[in-house]
Amino acid sequence: MIELREISNVSKLVQEWRQERASVGLVMTLGALHRGHMSLVKYAQAHCNHVLATIFVNPIQFGPSEDYVIYPRSEAQDFDLLAEWGCEAVFAPTAEELFPRGERSLQDSRTLVSVKDITSILDGPVRPGHFTGVVTIVLKMLNIVAADEAYFGEKDYQQYVIIRAMAEDLFVPVRIVLCPTIREADGLAMSSRNTYLTGEQRAIAPGLYRTLCAATQELRREGIGRADAVAERATGRLLALGFDSVDYLEFRDHELALPQLGNDPRELRLFAAARLGETQLTDNLPADAEIAEP
Ligand code: AMP
Repeated sequence: MIELREISNVSKLVQEWRQERASVGLVMTLGALHRGHMSLVKYAQAHCNHVLATIFVNPIQFGPSEDYVIYPRSEAQDFDLLAEWGCEAVFAPTAEELFPRGERSLQDSRTLVSVKDITSILDGPVRPGHFTGVVTIVLKMLNIVAADEAYFGEKDYQQYVIIRAMAEDLFVPVRIVLCPTIREADGLAMSSRNTYLTGEQRAIAPGLYRTLCAATQELRREGIGRADAVAERATGRLLALGFDSVDYLEFRDHELALPQLGNDPRELRLFAAARLGETQLTDNLPADAEIAEP
């Protein structure tokens, strides 16, 4: 696997690939890789001639009280995993390479890319500035790598919709592709942050997925008019299961708009974030998902 640290070397490699008229797929990660990331690499490999993954813990997407410093970093192991998955190249730059003006937060950034409205709902108010930090780094990476396709996980569905909107609005010549959420055997969506959970919290965690499954079934049974009541009941269940707080639990449509009475449940998706201690777990499900009980 080709290991790259510098933007100039990424450009050279991608240029070589382009000369072969080959297609390029991009998978962006914060590292601490797991099977969710693997599935993105595999999708990219199935659709593109060359695949490049990035590993970068982006300082400007973390709020001042968030986990930037302690975010799990396991670069040597990540490189081994990517090589094992057959990923052709990895770009793992330093913060100095991507932020040469020394920016380490939104406040000291000169240029930021912000998307309105769809960033001020769900995770937006919980993590102020987060999506601006994400969208800015994603556009940087898309400009550096000039990929034909970039792959994102359904696990972070709001992020996917926001990035797709940015790419569309700014005419970024890339196809934004959504890949399904990969789960542990008990239903818990895989996440690098799951390593923060204590044994006791880990036992409670799959309750998030189970609660979302039950709530989507209830919505189908009770109808769209009951969406708020179903969501409220599900929130109560999460707290009863032992979650310390629920940041949000809401039905939205696939474009993140609020449900309308005329909606079919197939047009809706249930989004939730709940906390075990300080750790925020997020998940989302289409309301018509055929759920196999884990
Ligand atoms: P992260 O490293 O958490 O920023 O994630 C990098 C990419 O992997 C994002 O597009 C995520 O949506 C995706 N991803 C993270 N966890 C999963 C998962 N369990 N299943 C599928 N994709 C995932």
